[in-house]
Amino acid sequence: MTTAPHPLAAVAEVADGVHAYVQDPGGWCVSNAGIVTGDQGAVVIDTLATRSRAEALRAAVDRVSAGPRRVLVNTHHHGDHVFGNDVFEPTAVVVAHENAVDELVETGLALTALWPEVAWGDPRLVLPTITFDDRIALRIGERRLELIHVGPAHTSNDVVVWLPEDRVLFAGDVLMSGCTPFSLMGSVAGTLAAIERLARLDPVTVVCGHGPVAGPEVLEANATYLRWIQDLAAAGRAAGCTPLQTARATPLGEYGELLDPERIVGNLHRAFAELDPDGRSAVDVPHVFEEMITYNGGRRPTCLA
Ligand SMILES: [Zn+2]
Repeated sequence: MTTAPHPLAAVAEVADGVHAYVQDPGGWCVSNAGIVTGDQGAVVIDTLATRSRAEALRAAVDRVSAGPRRVLVNTHHHGDHVFGNDVFEPTAVVVAHENAVDELVETGLALTALWPEVAWGDPRLVLPTITFDDRIALRIGERRLELIHVGPAHTSNDVVVWLPEDRVLFAGDVLMSGCTPFSLMGSVAGTLAAIERLARLDPVTVVCGHGPVAGPEVLEANATYLRWIQDLAAAGRAAGCTPLQTARATPLGEYGELLDPERIVGNLHRAFAELDPDGRSAVDVPHVFEEMITYNGGRRPTCLA
């Protein structure tokens, strides 16, 4: 069953009572959510970026859910996955990885400053109420949802939601569908390790943090891109180039068809840092965003939130 509850989104039932809430076209801050229903209510996976988008999600949850209980899962601390927590207040329980709390407190509403023209709707941070380190299981009716920390990958605190009976995986931003993967704030090598773990789950349906619902092929597509980044970083560093110089000298080829190609600069910064013997030297994230703008010829990355 597919319905269109909002001009910006479509809800697809990918298994009985399991819904992918997909926002077109993906890309910066245009993120997806998930809704898993049971007799008492729903588990909502991620809560979107702007108030209007989050309110549309809440209305979609109310439409498909039989009961009033709401448990939110934040797959990581980025604003486009957590700002909408507020519209589910005051009763929602929010579950996230332990690291998400410090990251949320530290970054706050910084995302809104990157794209001040977006109608954010006066977001207010709602911090997680239940956190965990490695894994935790949620129950909704008889269905079991496994929340697994697979970071550092896209960030330090990536959580995927795995439905073993339906073999549906909500991957957060560890995996991107039709969009460029992005490991600047986490780890390129860590994302590749996470993808190996996710492949062992053997999912049939994969709902990525951004872009259309995918099948298992999306795992290898993301891994192929990230291995390419690692190879580019090794060659660029050997040639004495910076990450930005390496990106500018590299034809994107098939990866140019993915949304947000400027992420190559951020991915290369992280991959360069991971070539250091001590594993991870510091990467200046705000500076890297400036370099992504430089890579784009002075144009800020496109945000359609
Ligand atoms: Zn993210």
